[in-house]
Amino acid sequence: MTRSSLITDAQNTWCPGCGNFMILFALRNVLEALSEEGRSLDSVVLVSGIGCHAKIADYMNINSFYSIHGRTIPVATGIQLANPDLTVIACAGDGDAYAEGLDHLVFAAKRNVDITLLVHNNRVYGLTTGQYTPTSPLGFRGRSTPGGTIEEPFNPLELVLASGGTFIARESSLQMDSLQETIMEAIRHRGFSYVDILQICATYFNMTSYYRERMYRLKDHDESDFDQACDRMREWDYNGDAPIGLGIFYRREKDTFGGRLSGRKTVAVDRESAIRKILDERR
Ligand code: SF4
Ligand code: MG
Repeated sequence: MTRSSLITDAQNTWCPGCGNFMILFALRNVLEALSEEGRSLDSVVLVSGIGCHAKIADYMNINSFYSIHGRTIPVATGIQLANPDLTVIACAGDGDAYAEGLDHLVFAAKRNVDITLLVHNNRVYGLTTGQYTPTSPLGFRGRSTPGGTIEEPFNPLELVLASGGTFIARESSLQMDSLQETIMEAIRHRGFSYVDILQICATYFNMTSYYRERMYRLKDHDESDFDQACDRMREWDYNGDAPIGLGIFYRREKDTFGGRLSGRKTVAVDRESAIRKILDERR
């Protein structure tokens, strides 16, 4: 496939300046690089959720599945388990991954499901015109909180680390080259790869200046050190003025859920007979 053929001719309705464009182009470039290495893009599946980010499935010319709100991860998990030869990439919004689908995020990390999760974290519900999400900062003023939120955001990186995540990274839609490199590393990682992408919402929460003043790339960082990763993740709590580290915070090898599952002897169960037997015993 050529560069242009990876982008569809669907009308793009993202706002001018939206960070989703950079994520789309970064993913396009990564897929093209994989294709040049000999990987068939027919074996790649993109799953998206609901929200502005989800339109990426309309704009990317590969196998895709538009799922429902908060269920991006279980759909991606099912596809990967059904056909382990597929490379499954899940794109989710912060509403998808950190609110409605939070339990799925925790369990994907716990199980080490072999999928790549890219969270388009603009820290707002953009499609529904600007309500606060779990990563909006304290005091965020939006449609549902005109007086400002009264709750602090949580730190999703720490949550994934505590849940057993084996590849945990943070990137920004403002740094295209690094974003591409990290997405490539995430796809190459065997197991649950999670990238929290600080994505600009140009219309409802434009944090461009805030991020530019604080972002730095992790250096002299040991990705295999759990405690060091935890310390670096805690530097910025998605609130306040601390420096914001970007890069791969944590990476380790571990058996995948699919690998363990395929090692199991499958026992066929005739469910109907089993239920009849239970009912007969109760008569
Ligand atoms: Fe992008 Fe925000 Fe516009 Fe949605 S509302 S398309 S996230 S700029
Ligand atoms: Mg969002």
